[in-house]
Amino acid sequence: MANRMSWHVGSVKISRVLEFEMPVLTPDVLYPDITPAHLERNRGWLTPSLLDPASNRLMMAIHSFIIETPTSLILVDTCSGNDKSRPHKQRYHQKSWPYLENLSAAGYQPEDIQYVLCTHLHADHVGWNTRLVGGRWIPVFPNARYLFAAKELEYWQDEGQRGNYTDDPYFEDSIAPILESGLADLVAMNHVIDEFVALEPSVGHTPGHVSVWIRSDGEEAVLSGDIMHTALQCAEPELNSCFCIDAEMSRRTRQQFVERHADSNTLILPAHFPTPTVGHIRRRSSGYRFIFDGQSD
Ligand SMILES: [Zn+2]
Repeated sequence: MANRMSWHVGSVKISRVLEFEMPVLTPDVLYPDITPAHLERNRGWLTPSLLDPASNRLMMAIHSFIIETPTSLILVDTCSGNDKSRPHKQRYHQKSWPYLENLSAAGYQPEDIQYVLCTHLHADHVGWNTRLVGGRWIPVFPNARYLFAAKELEYWQDEGQRGNYTDDPYFEDSIAPILESGLADLVAMNHVIDEFVALEPSVGHTPGHVSVWIRSDGEEAVLSGDIMHTALQCAEPELNSCFCIDAEMSRRTRQQFVERHADSNTLILPAHFPTPTVGHIRRRSSGYRFIFDGQSD
């Protein structure tokens, strides 16, 4: 299958910039409520490309999407970053990924980016907001406005709140330096970036989680962030990840999302689905299925 890393939606081009993809977590760790029945009825189509049989871990990707419209250049989600101290999350700890090289290979330089948007403020969505230069964390995208949903920032600004989840200093090294640099804009969860791109609230995973809509020439796409971490949650929308903060709301948001897009032409671009990453939601007699780009429908 061709490893396609860019897509067109009307006059908008969307490119994927990869940080890494690998088998990451076992289903029972990622989905604490999973039962043997959930897994067995899906194991056939998950294996081997989405569920690695050797490690029994789900394949996941960490990537950014770049949205190039006729008027704006927007980078969505900034992965986990390099040189970050993440003792509680070794897969993000003290890494040196060739992310900026991948950005350049996609045809973009950091200076080109006009807007940086994090769908939410978990450590794997904010990392390349900053990089380490001379012992200081400086913005990677010096000419960008960094858009944060005000409600999301308000939640994570509370140190006690963060401490409920981790002691890793991701706020201090990847968000606070942006606020201090004056490059941040706090926006509503339905903020409109230009005539092609707008945010929409999709809360539950976190309190200010947003999706990103792209509409052009009658075509539509949506960057769905962490509404679903893997395609298993499209087939089993009641499964929350271990990272979902509001269980009820997260489940409801996911169920509504899957129903709304089932059998539509809307291209879905989730934040962690491995190559080929994007696709459509289709109804099956057994429920819903995520049909990846290039996969027979
Ligand atoms: Zn994530």
